[in-house]
Amino acid sequence: NLFMADRMDKLEGEAAFAVLAKARELEAKGMDIKHFEVGEPDFPTPMKIREAGKKAIDDGLTFYSPAQGYMPFREAIADYAKQYKNIDTDTSEIVVTPGGKSMIFFTLMCLVNPGDEVIYPDPGYPAYRSMIKYTGGIPVPVNIIEEKGYSFDLDELESKISDRTKLIIINSPGNPTGGVLPPEDIDRIAELIENKNIYVFSDEIYDRLIYEGTTKSIASIASVKDRVIVADSFSKSYAMTGWRLGYGIMNPVLAEEMTKLQINCNSCTSTFVQVAGIEALKGPQDEVDRMRGEFMKRRDLVVEGLNSIKGFSCMKTAGAFYAFANIKSTGLESSELASTILEESGVALLDGASFGDNGKGYLRLSYANSEENIMEALNRIDLLMGRIM
Ligand code: PLP
Repeated sequence: NLFMADRMDKLEGEAAFAVLAKARELEAKGMDIKHFEVGEPDFPTPMKIREAGKKAIDDGLTFYSPAQGYMPFREAIADYAKQYKNIDTDTSEIVVTPGGKSMIFFTLMCLVNPGDEVIYPDPGYPAYRSMIKYTGGIPVPVNIIEEKGYSFDLDELESKISDRTKLIIINSPGNPTGGVLPPEDIDRIAELIENKNIYVFSDEIYDRLIYEGTTKSIASIASVKDRVIVADSFSKSYAMTGWRLGYGIMNPVLAEEMTKLQINCNSCTSTFVQVAGIEALKGPQDEVDRMRGEFMKRRDLVVEGLNSIKGFSCMKTAGAFYAFANIKSTGLESSELASTILEESGVALLDGASFGDNGKGYLRLSYANSEENIMEALNRIDLLMGRIM
């Protein structure tokens, strides 16, 4: 016992990083591994964005920016939010952070008192539950339902709201399923909180990756906007995971509180990275469109391939870059099957249960990988299932 604080028991790790580490060990022993575990675009960051980052360094933007974010960048975000999310906002409502993940943590730190209930999607991004527990909140999962295209049953969501509910977390398109909440559902969620002291955290980091239909930002609904925190990030849309750049849009009082956290925690987000972010938002968007087109082709390939494997069935969802395959009819535990597929076939993917209890019986594959690797991985899984079933 090296005297850690008690609260550290409440923080969880993340399966994607744990499986990646295991896959790397197998690679070190000479095994050829196909990687479908980590949710990270395999495309390089678009050239214009890289050039803007390099130029910003040469221009001397290598000092602290204001803690809340570099002003020209916040102005670009406000314009972008109007154009792509239909949100009326200004720079006082925007806080820039190193990635979208900090926005989840900062929001919970600012809003949750011990004993407050936080509703979140199950299966859902693991950081939600981990950070709810860490900040002393009570995690209240709501099922994400396959038969509903991986969205909520809104009556169930309503039934989970209590006097102690402080926050509802939504994520559309969603990790790990790729499910998209239709605009009607967003309207209904807004109605549910309209006259209550409840905030909504809307994780919109995959909203540029929608292949059919549409979603809607709950912050575009004026009557609830002051109780919404929108979180967005450059990691997925602009293939910038390692740059660490994200932001939140929220009421100005909360923005000030969050800036206090930022001052205590990071001082600011890297200044030249924010300048590269201006190019991402204001420059040509053709690279984003091209990547989306590629992801869509791969989605079709993955879903078709998974559906032809014995015991697997996979719904074609409309967003993000995840396939969530139902393997219940194999009668196997998804955790065991995920390990067997890694160890015997060299395909790294994730057990659905690592995203919550309701993800048991599913496997998540991130299809941010080449068509060639996708074909090879599907083939390997197919051979394995033919052998063990
Ligand atoms: N939210 C969701 C739903 C995610 O899937 C991820 C990353 O996988 C994040 C937030 C955080 O991404 P980042 O911190 O790289 O912006």
